[in-house]
Amino acid sequence: QSKQLYLGLDFGTSGARFVIIDKHGVIYAEGKRDYPQTTVRFVPQITTGEPLCQPFLYNTNCSDALPIVQSIAPENHTVVSGSSTLSKLISWWISTDPHKNSALLMHQADWLLYLLHGKLGVSDYNNALKVGYDPEAESYPSWLLKQPYAQLLPTVKAPGTSVGFIKEDIRLHFDFPKDCIICTGTTDSIAAFLAAGASQPGKAVTSLGSTLAIKLLSTSRIEDSRFGVYSHRLDDKWLVGGASNTGGAVLRQIFTDSQLDELSEQINPEEPSSLDYYPLPAVGERFPVADPNMMPRLQPRPDNDVEFLHGILESIARIEARGYGLLKELGATEVEEVYSAGGGARNEKWMKIRERVLGVTVSRAPQTEAAYGAALLALKGATKSPSQLY
Ligand code: ADP
Repeated sequence: QSKQLYLGLDFGTSGARFVIIDKHGVIYAEGKRDYPQTTVRFVPQITTGEPLCQPFLYNTNCSDALPIVQSIAPENHTVVSGSSTLSKLISWWISTDPHKNSALLMHQADWLLYLLHGKLGVSDYNNALKVGYDPEAESYPSWLLKQPYAQLLPTVKAPGTSVGFIKEDIRLHFDFPKDCIICTGTTDSIAAFLAAGASQPGKAVTSLGSTLAIKLLSTSRIEDSRFGVYSHRLDDKWLVGGASNTGGAVLRQIFTDSQLDELSEQINPEEPSSLDYYPLPAVGERFPVADPNMMPRLQPRPDNDVEFLHGILESIARIEARGYGLLKELGATEVEEVYSAGGGARNEKWMKIRERVLGVTVSRAPQTEAAYGAALLALKGATKSPSQLY
C-alpha cells in the first residue's frame, strides 16, 4: 500500500508555499513558488465560479458600508469594522453590479479550494468569522440572515473537514490518487498557530515580527472590541488573540539586525532592567492598553547601547506579559507555556528575559509555517475520512 501524504498550501503576499507531511507530521517535501507575472485568465462560465469583481484585500477599508454594518450588527461585534468581510460584502452589494442574483461570497481560501474540489460556496468558520458567522451556534445570526444579501453567504464547515474528492481533470493532470480529498482550511495566522503544535488550553504563541501578536488556546471564548480581542473556534476550544503595535519595527528603527545580534549577546538576561519604556513605531496603542493617543516612550536613553537594548527588550516583554494578563482578566485560560515565532524568536537572550518576566516556559516554535499548519488540517480531515466519500 502506498504512503498516505497530506499537503498544506499557503497563498501569501509574496508567493505560494506548500508543505507535504506524513501521518506523523514529519515533513516529506516543502517549497515555495512565485506567482506568475502575467494576469491569470479565467474562462467565463455563467454562474460557475467566475469572479464578478476584483478581490477585496484583507486591509481594504469599506468605510461606506460601516454605518450600515453598525445599524444591523450588535455593538462591538467583530464585523463592526470597515475592513471586516461583512463591510466588504455590503460595499459591493450597494454598488451597481448587475450580477447580484447569481453571486456568491467567497473568501480567497474558498475560491482556491473551489478550483480543486469544484464546489461553490463552501467556507470554514475561521475565515467566515468576520462576515458574521457564529462558530459557537454554528450558524449565521438572525440579524444577518434577514438581510437581502444573506443568499450570498457560504456554507460553513469546521477547518480540516473534507469537502469532496479532487476534481477529475486536476487529478488526472497531476496524477493524484483516486481517493485524494480536499479539506477546508483556515486563516493564515491560525494555520501558523496550529503549526507550532500548541494543542492544549494554556499554550500560546507569541509572534515577534514587526508587531507583537499573541494567541492563546482557551477553554472559554472572549471578545472585547475595545482591545481588538476576539476568539476563533478550534474544535472544542477557542483561540484568543490580541495584537500590540510594539515589536520589531521599533527595534529596526534604532538598530540593524546585526547590531541586534551583537548587542543581545552582551545582555545578562537574569538581571532585570529598570528602564521602563513603551516602544511604539507611531502614536497609538490598542492592546493591551486601548489608547489611540498613547505616545511612544523610549526615554531616558542610557549611553550604553547594551543597556538600552536590554531596556527595550524587557519593556516589550512586560507588554507581552500584560497582554496575557489582560486575556486572563477578560476570562481566558491562564497562559502556561509560550512558543515564539517571527524574526524576534531567534533571539535567545530575549527568550530568557521573557521567561523571567512572563514566569512561564518560553521556547522557539518548532514549526511556524502556515503551510505546515494547513497540512496538519489536511491530516485531520483525511483521518476523520467521512464514510460517504468512500
Ligand atoms: P514581519 O513578517 O512581521 O515583517 P518578521 O517575522 O520577519 O517580521 O521579523 C522581523 C522583525 O524581527 C524585525 O522587525 C526585527 O526588528 C526583528 N528582529 C530581527 N532580528 C532580531 C533579533 N536578533 N532580536 C530581536 N528582534 C529581531
